[in-house]
Amino acid sequence: MMLQWRIFHTLCSAGREAPKSLKAGLLFPHVLSCGHRFVWHRTKTSLPDSRERTLIAVKPDGVQRRLVGQIIQRFEQRGFRLVGLKMLQASEDLLSEHYCQLRSKPFFPILLQYMTSGPVVAMVWEGHNVVKTSRTMVGHTNPAEAQAGTVRGDFSTHVSRNVVHASDSVEGAQREIHLWFQAKDLLDWDSWDQMSTSDVTTSSAS
Ligand code: UDP
Ligand code: MG
Repeated sequence: MMLQWRIFHTLCSAGREAPKSLKAGLLFPHVLSCGHRFVWHRTKTSLPDSRERTLIAVKPDGVQRRLVGQIIQRFEQRGFRLVGLKMLQASEDLLSEHYCQLRSKPFFPILLQYMTSGPVVAMVWEGHNVVKTSRTMVGHTNPAEAQAGTVRGDFSTHVSRNVVHASDSVEGAQREIHLWFQAKDLLDWDSWDQMSTSDVTTSSAS
């Protein structure tokens, strides 16, 4: 299935039509739009729960304050798998697409200024319920309301310098990962402790 998806994805990114047989074998990838741009995504059901992925990015203030290591440690310690990592100076175009739902907000220009003020460390983390769990780990958008113990609750005081980004839904994560990473830069690997940390066999698990 993973190989099938990769071939499909490569053809779509190259703007080519995928063969019908390949399309039929995939579990209904759907399209999410943001502004003028349309992106193909896997549905949540096309991947096992333990393969759920999210985009986490240490923002320029977090990098400047040398918090990258501590943030990575929290996700490793929780039991998630790092499947992609890069440091980059993000462009306005990328950020404008990333934050497309916020374009009409008064703080949008300042947000772009902040996010382009220095390097960002972008990561893809994988694991059971990683999207929801990482939002909890990162904490409320406004650090004043973020619980102690969360990244924002421990390291920030102002909404405009809140250290870290975490995708807010499975579909949003797929859109963001596709924006920040090429499929070839994400690794599929099995951690040795997977059976004891995340492989849940009961049907009621969520
Ligand atoms: N932001 C801001 N002022 C606000 C609200 C948000 O500067 O009043 C910034 C902040 O950096 C936040 C980002 O915009 O993390 C994206 O906002 P969103 O509502 O998506 O919050 P998040 O998903 O990051 O918690
Ligand atoms: Mg958000």
